[in-house]
Amino acid sequence: MVADLHLHTSFSDGTYVPEELVSHAHRCGLAAIALTDHDSVEGCVRAALACVAVGIEFISGTELTAEQEGNELHILGYCLDTQNPRLLTEIAHFQTVRQDRIREMVARLNHLKVPLSAENVFALANCRAPGRPHVARALVQAGLCSSLDEAFKRFLKKNRPAWVPKFKMSAADAIELIHQASGVAVLAHPGLNQTDQVIPGMVEAGLDGIECFHAKHSTATAEHYLELADRFHLLVTGGSDCHGLNKGKPLIGTVRLPYQHVEQLKASAAERKAAATLSALPTPH
Ligand code: AMP
Ligand code: ZN
Ligand code: FE
Ligand code: FE
Repeated sequence: MVADLHLHTSFSDGTYVPEELVSHAHRCGLAAIALTDHDSVEGCVRAALACVAVGIEFISGTELTAEQEGNELHILGYCLDTQNPRLLTEIAHFQTVRQDRIREMVARLNHLKVPLSAENVFALANCRAPGRPHVARALVQAGLCSSLDEAFKRFLKKNRPAWVPKFKMSAADAIELIHQASGVAVLAHPGLNQTDQVIPGMVEAGLDGIECFHAKHSTATAEHYLELADRFHLLVTGGSDCHGLNKGKPLIGTVRLPYQHVEQLKASAAERKAAATLSALPTPH
């Protein structure tokens, strides 16, 4: 039994709707999946329902944009209550800022005489958490760039002329936000950040796990983070970070996390929920 715990849908910058994603998961023979859209939990209900229909275990999730010591980090929240009021308020804020950022990127493009409209991007994105991939797709669709790669290289990559920094919460705040929504907080793809020095501080802030297996982690990288997980007593997770078809063939199922890690993740979430319930009980006389 294997799982893929890092997947995106069209509720952020993935191309599949939840039902399509789940049907791919079914074909890949996955026993469990988690949906981790950027700054969104909206797709979770539909994904959960689709999973029930094909007998796949579903784990709710999100991927929050955070920073620590000036480094952008992504924090995965798992098994969280997707109706948690504070989580939904913070997510709504992330989404408003993402929409403002699209307008700012488009204004910069217009300044460069690239005639794209923000409405174009919003229509194409059709979601509350739009990002740079949607701007890139709109540029290609309008014939203003020949490929997504060109759009990123010319305009959207960090420090290119239409790049706009993204709102990030501190890693400690992201971890706390996930915890108060009864979730488990996991550092996403540390091998892509290459900022291991932030890990001890995050462990102190309550980090529960580390994504050792990722489509862009080599075997050596995965082993390195397995060692760190062991040293800091962290949960081990893994996922493909599939965004659908916009980046070649779908990555879903290319990372196959042994199911024992899903069990440990669920046990940790259950422990957190039980502790929260206990602390909410009136003190006995
Ligand atoms: P954003 O959240 O708006 O900053 O966009 C980040 C997304 O853009 C991530 O899903 C990345 O996979 C994607 N991305 C970043 N750089 C590139 C690139 N050079 N080519 C294609 N996609 C990219
Ligand atoms: Zn993404
Ligand atoms: Fe990420
Ligand atoms: Fe991701």
